[in-house]
Amino acid sequence: MKKRNAVIGTTSYCNARCLVCPTTRKAHGIMSFALWKSIVNQFATLPLAIYDEFWACSIGLFGEPLMDRGFFDKAAYYNKVFPKQSSTPSELSRSRMPLLFNTNANLLFPHSADRIIESFDEVYIHAAAIDSKTYHLLMPKLDYTTMLSNTQYLIKRNHILNGHLRIIVATPRTRHNLAELDVYKTFWLNEGADAVDFSQLLNRAGTLEMFDDLAVQYGNVECPNCQAATANNLIIDWDGVVLLCCQDFHRQLPIGHIAQEPIMQVLFSEKRHAVMQMLENKQHEQLVTCAMCKINLASE
Ligand code: SF4
Ligand code: SF4
Repeated sequence: MKKRNAVIGTTSYCNARCLVCPTTRKAHGIMSFALWKSIVNQFATLPLAIYDEFWACSIGLFGEPLMDRGFFDKAAYYNKVFPKQSSTPSELSRSRMPLLFNTNANLLFPHSADRIIESFDEVYIHAAAIDSKTYHLLMPKLDYTTMLSNTQYLIKRNHILNGHLRIIVATPRTRHNLAELDVYKTFWLNEGADAVDFSQLLNRAGTLEMFDDLAVQYGNVECPNCQAATANNLIIDWDGVVLLCCQDFHRQLPIGHIAQEPIMQVLFSEKRHAVMQMLENKQHEQLVTCAMCKINLASE
């Protein structure tokens, strides 16, 4: 079975207004420490066979994790339960699920670099372009120079400390940044990033109004026709609402609620099973999110 990914939105607030991101969501909030603790504790007590199906715990969903003042406390709690620097499996006899987070790096201040290196296994830095004009076009409200210097500092510090943080600089391909992606890749690899990642742009389950303007080739769009394995992932928003897909920015298809039911119940609920069955049977048009979904399949 394909490994599950746990994606947890610890906040839905963001300091950016990226063109690739619907910004009209109404439900704004920050995950309480009690809910975060409950999720981590449940990971620690899931039956081992179920726990081993997860490959990572990723923080960041519809928001900027560093907008949450409790971000480092949450990471510290995770590290207490699943120690990072441990030569032996934790007391719980289970290996640590790598802890990841996504950020636009504008709040990734140098004074927090060491804590990030100590606490996390991977960070995905969303930088929409290497050219500052393109960056400001695609990521209005953010500052290119701040993103650049914060990211460069984190990379440098990670090397100095001989840290094991994997730093990945990432962006979706759009019509605006396509021509500069080769330069982008060379630049960041020379800077010492571990990888660059150019993802395909999706229309956020039909809610990204600018999708056709951003797509590399208008009309070059197809529904990804996701399969049942997609519904295996555990996508939890800040208030505990569980979604089928991380593209569901408007939370149109909730399939559970972690604040009201245990993770095991959410993973094996009838609702999740029914949705998986529909994806398996290619009945995407019957799911409110998938019926509207488009992807821009742009080559490098
Ligand atoms: S893509 Fe990320 S950084 Fe940009 S507005 Fe959305 S959540 Fe914020
Ligand atoms: S909305 Fe549906 S088809 Fe689109 S990415 Fe999500 S699961 Fe796949």
